[in-house]
Amino acid sequence: MAEPVVVRAAPSPTGDPHVGTAYIFLFNYALRQKRGGKFILRIDDTDRTRYQADAEQNIIDELAWLGLAFDEGPVRQSARSDRYREAVEELIAKGAAYRCDCTKERLDEVRARQRAEKEQPRYDGQCRDRDVSADGPHVVRLKVPRDGETTFADSLRGVITFANATIDDQVLLKTDGHPTYHLATVVDDHDMEVTHILRAEDWINSMPKHVLLYRAFGWEPPEHFHLPLLRNADKSKISKRKNHTSITWYRENGFLPEALLNFLGLMGWSMGEDREEFSLDEFIAAFEPADIKTSAPIFDLQKLEWLNGVYIRKCPPEDLGRRIAAVSELGRDADPALMTALAPLVSERMKRLTDFDDMCAFFFVGDDEIGARYEDLVPKKRTDTNTAAVLRAAREIVAELGGGDDETAAIMEPADLEQRLRALGAEVEWKPRELFMSIRYAITGKKVSPPIVECMCLLGAPACMARMDAAIDVLGNPENPILGQAGS
Ligand code: GLU
Repeated sequence: MAEPVVVRAAPSPTGDPHVGTAYIFLFNYALRQKRGGKFILRIDDTDRTRYQADAEQNIIDELAWLGLAFDEGPVRQSARSDRYREAVEELIAKGAAYRCDCTKERLDEVRARQRAEKEQPRYDGQCRDRDVSADGPHVVRLKVPRDGETTFADSLRGVITFANATIDDQVLLKTDGHPTYHLATVVDDHDMEVTHILRAEDWINSMPKHVLLYRAFGWEPPEHFHLPLLRNADKSKISKRKNHTSITWYRENGFLPEALLNFLGLMGWSMGEDREEFSLDEFIAAFEPADIKTSAPIFDLQKLEWLNGVYIRKCPPEDLGRRIAAVSELGRDADPALMTALAPLVSERMKRLTDFDDMCAFFFVGDDEIGARYEDLVPKKRTDTNTAAVLRAAREIVAELGGGDDETAAIMEPADLEQRLRALGAEVEWKPRELFMSIRYAITGKKVSPPIVECMCLLGAPACMARMDAAIDVLGNPENPILGQAGS
């Protein structure tokens, strides 16, 4: 039995909760569930200029929607300032860090000169060996060795080596007394006894600084796994311009958490044999951090929609009706029993729960608002008089089965209604396709709808009859301009 782990995710509260955060959270969660131990949610709020007050709660809410739980936290880095100051004093005392009071103007000048000479812009080290007072405004920088190399092993990518000459004397503590990401992360990961760090690959370049910090403190670094970044179709890093990046957007636009998790699991993980569908439990059971794939995963919305449809069709009707109601404009106030009845009728062609509004709009409008047009109602090769007669006969069937205009009348059964309508089609020598197309337009005003016979039974006989009457009116009314144009 493998040892329990301590993992953490450290999102920054700087904007909408990002799908990248969900992705990193999922992999950390899977490791925690697989091995036991502890998952810490740490809020990386050291950058006070980009801080947004409601961002932390939004992250927590969206993670809860996804069903990804943490064991400890949120731990806010902003509450640990004293600890970082103490750590930085230790580094200064050990000669691994130094105070720097260079002004912004001087730093700008240095950078401008370096740029002009086509050098990599970086701190020139003026304060490295000066005795800068702790009383005036200053920052604290990491004293990176000038020569040699810094090497570390990434558990997915092997040994990576950086020439020290390319590493900047990173600011560790800012003038405002807040730590930078690098200092806070290393101190916290050590203090919180983190055993495994699973984070995005864009932090690899920070690793040499972190390794130097671990070494200066005399601490053993945790195991590091840098996961591949999610990418747009053009392979660039996932961005708002080319993809929806907010978890909130996915929730509000009718994606199921199970589908989003399955999809994120496919980014960087393979169940083998091209298997694309798996549950969170199956993912956890199979998960081995060392087997994470590092090839660039494309965040393909169409694929997510396909997967979402698969999960939609797995939902039992009552559950699906409830989930649709949670995100749909029209379903929100609808009778839950109606939503349960509609759910299996719409699920077949649904990609997002929000497709419901377009598919079922006809349920929620008045019988005189359907707006079926002459040219839709009359099948090719049929006349308007002929169509009107057929619709009248269909209306009679509905009246008979549904007990007329009485709202309290018998509920129509789909099998009976379908059988009677098909018999009518045979009698008048209309193909079922022609008959049901005319009826569909009359009832829904659209060419495509959920199964029409079931819809009619749910709508009820009075509504169906009123809608058929309106269609017959369109066909038979010589005043109708549409009729005049199309001829008969
Ligand atoms: N705040 C960083 C992020 O959101 C944390 C990186 C880390 O896990 O060390 O990517």
